[in-house]
Amino acid sequence: MSEPLPPAAALRRIAFLLERAREPSHRVSAFRTAAAVVDTLGPDELDRRIRTRTLTDLRGIGPKTGAAIVQAHAGEVPEYLARLEETHGDLLPLAEDAAALRALLRGDLHAHSDWSDGGSPIREMAEAAIGLGHEYLALTDHSPRLTVANGLSPERLERQLDVVAELNEELSPFRILTGIECDINVDGSLDQTDELLGRLDVVVASVHSDLRADSAAMTERMLAAVADPHTDVLGHCTGRLLIPREQREGRRQRPRPESTFDAEAVFSACVEHGTAVEINSRPERLDPPLRLLTLAVDLGCEFAIDTDAHAPGQLDWQGNGCERAVECGVPADRVVNTRSAEDLLAWSLR
Ligand SMILES: [Zn+2]
Ligand SMILES: [Zn+2]
Repeated sequence: MSEPLPPAAALRRIAFLLERAREPSHRVSAFRTAAAVVDTLGPDELDRRIRTRTLTDLRGIGPKTGAAIVQAHAGEVPEYLARLEETHGDLLPLAEDAAALRALLRGDLHAHSDWSDGGSPIREMAEAAIGLGHEYLALTDHSPRLTVANGLSPERLERQLDVVAELNEELSPFRILTGIECDINVDGSLDQTDELLGRLDVVVASVHSDLRADSAAMTERMLAAVADPHTDVLGHCTGRLLIPREQREGRRQRPRPESTFDAEAVFSACVEHGTAVEINSRPERLDPPLRLLTLAVDLGCEFAIDTDAHAPGQLDWQGNGCERAVECGVPADRVVNTRSAEDLLAWSLR
């Protein structure tokens, strides 16, 4: 690949190649952070910064990332990128492979609406999914304990089920699958009533608290959640954040490392209990990391390639997950959201 890319895309490409080259994660995230900074600048501001040589005054842009931005902005392939392409470009999965996998995806099993911390009503999320050619979308708003994300109490979730039922009549044959992104409590139990979890089509279980617990505690916690008969998908398993991100009410989350746990034990339990490992496509997550994704493939896991979208446009992010899936040799028939809604439900409700 030698054609010039816009600056943010060039930076992300560099990060992608560095990660694949198994470079230290701080180096990878430096380029992702810089790309996120470029995203926040308008084209005029970017021009001005380059003209006045003040790019590196911005937090998150250093000499290396700054030079790459300037070169990409001038319509050139940044030197740093050209060198990486030369060394690692031949390992690239064919873009067509990722595109072919993506074309097989019939839906998404992880998305949020404005009922929790998403930015859009359920209907808009569903319409965006229809626009992508999807047959279904699992609506997985947060569970009660995640108050920072406006998690749904049992009463609100019940009301949401009624709203979804009405929308489904209108949008048929498209189907909004009822669901939840359920917090995994510190003791490994799930943060919603058994009765409600039993009524939902799709349960994504994720760790959102005590992420720095020691490996033994985290492993035990995840093993319990994966074995829970309600759990269908293990969400963003390491909890890592590659770049800072904005949350509701202007809160800012800083990058954080992976949680530590016995991945072999957890993924083996996923195989045993029929829980799919999520390949989370959010650019700041890209979870699991490639080495863990490869391990999960080797152990025989099934997968869900999800966007974890918090806005309609983000439903388009599945390509990120497909690239990683192809790179790690995930067979399409082990990706549960390549299945029809009917087959998927037969799997999740088993
Ligand atoms: Zn989550
Ligand atoms: Zn989520």
